Amino acid sequence: MTRKELIEILSIPHTDTSAIEDLKRRAGEVMVKEVGTDVYYRGIIEFSNICTLDCHYCGIRRSNSRVTDRYTLSKQEIIDTALWCRDAGYGSLVLQSGERRDQPFISFVEDLIMTLRRESVSPRLPEGLGITLGVGEQDEHTYQRLADAGAHRYLLRIETTNEALYRRLHPSSQRLSERISCLRSLRKIGFQVGTGVMIGLPGQSIDMLADDILFFRDMDVDMIGMGPYIVHEDSPMARQGMMEKEALMQLSLNMIAAVRLALKDVNIASTTALQALYPDGRERGLAYGANVTMPNLTPQDVRKGYQLYQGKPCVEESKNECRECLLGRITSIGRKVGFDAWGDSPHALQRTQARQVLS
Ligand code: SAH
Repeated sequence: MTRKELIEILSIPHTDTSAIEDLKRRAGEVMVKEVGTDVYYRGIIEFSNICTLDCHYCGIRRSNSRVTDRYTLSKQEIIDTALWCRDAGYGSLVLQSGERRDQPFISFVEDLIMTLRRESVSPRLPEGLGITLGVGEQDEHTYQRLADAGAHRYLLRIETTNEALYRRLHPSSQRLSERISCLRSLRKIGFQVGTGVMIGLPGQSIDMLADDILFFRDMDVDMIGMGPYIVHEDSPMARQGMMEKEALMQLSLNMIAAVRLALKDVNIASTTALQALYPDGRERGLAYGANVTMPNLTPQDVRKGYQLYQGKPCVEESKNECRECLLGRITSIGRKVGFDAWGDSPHALQRTQARQVLS
């Protein structure tokens, strides 16, 4: 895939049905060949909305004083939810939160991972739940501690690889170079690394998105999670608006297909933000080559406190309701769920095997 080919794919408009059908077919073929047809679940627990950062786009950023219910779930609440996740056959868990770098927080997460690894072992899941972390930028020593505790995947979206755009989205203390160096540390430590971007940001061009995909490829990442940028009304970026819904949806789907064609054997998530645009948004993502989805397990009483953007779906639903609904949605498009498995990407497995051969 050249930059020019990527730009061509990303430019397909929602009105060009024959180009769209062709793109879906190509992305689907690569998906089937490289990662198979199963859809893997990662139950996500948004365990704290306390955040020390101030990203201009995000609803839970530090200076949003309208978020009055800042919460952190107790260890027991998280473990109970994780065991529900295991018993529902979801083989992997994502622990995501706002960003804190203080020692009490890191020790809390470290202890949590160790307990989860131990307590989630079952006959159906002999190694326990797969654990993915999304707790933002940390120093290498901290990442190492979290890996030693038993986490094996890490998600850190780069958000955009365009330096000027990155600067517009964040306070000056947050730097693109720092985020890239975090991704390098995660890889060095041996995590399966996931990254991604927001799509349709004010000031973002198709060329920038094509460069983002080339960055994913050059960084040799194992997992991709991308979603449309959706305005949050209490954010500094609110007055800049957002892309028109239909065009934004198509651009997001084109991104998924382009990443599948360019990176081939990685896991690609069909994210919740797609569903915020259209009720069937996640199924549509799966039809463009995505193979992972992340059912929300955050307890109902705190879900409203984790609104990264406006119109986040399922804030009123319980995890049981989400489970039924999602299974129906996936089977409706003729796909099957890969229950009771970690569902690592073939890309990551190959690297692990190569390392074993070398040593
Ligand atoms: N603090 C953690 C995770 C929380 S935010 C971290 O930095 O990794 C998780 C993701 O939500 C972000 O990476 C961002 O890409 C996305 N996000 C935040 N605000 C958003 C918005 N307004 N629209 C769409 N996605 C958003």
